Amino acid sequence: MTRCGKAGSGENYREQALKMFPWVCGRCAREFSGKQLRELTVHHKDHNHDNNPPDGSNWELLCIYCHDNEHQRYLEADAHGPAGKSSEPAATYKAFAGLAHMLKDT
Ligand SMILES: [Zn+2]
Ligand SMILES: [Zn+2]
Repeated sequence: MTRCGKAGSGENYREQALKMFPWVCGRCAREFSGKQLRELTVHHKDHNHDNNPPDGSNWELLCIYCHDNEHQRYLEADAHGPAGKSSEPAATYKAFAGLAHMLKDT
């Protein structure tokens, strides 16, 4: 009985979001009904699929095309962004390695 609870909850947010929001794409404003509803997907605003607040504040209904677009932009931003960011942990790591080395020498 209990295995239905958490295991299925991953898909549950879509049902919830569809109940909560009008069936309209948040980008292109296309309206959906019936079978077309399959093309309406739930996007997570912070791109964290585990973040599903019951008030729906992290959800946005997007059609599959706009959803694709949204993630494309995110990936591009991601590809440009980390170049500066990723040097930080490396620098920290080096500093730490240097410290270890110094400790060894003493
Ligand atoms: Zn759309
Ligand atoms: Zn998404």
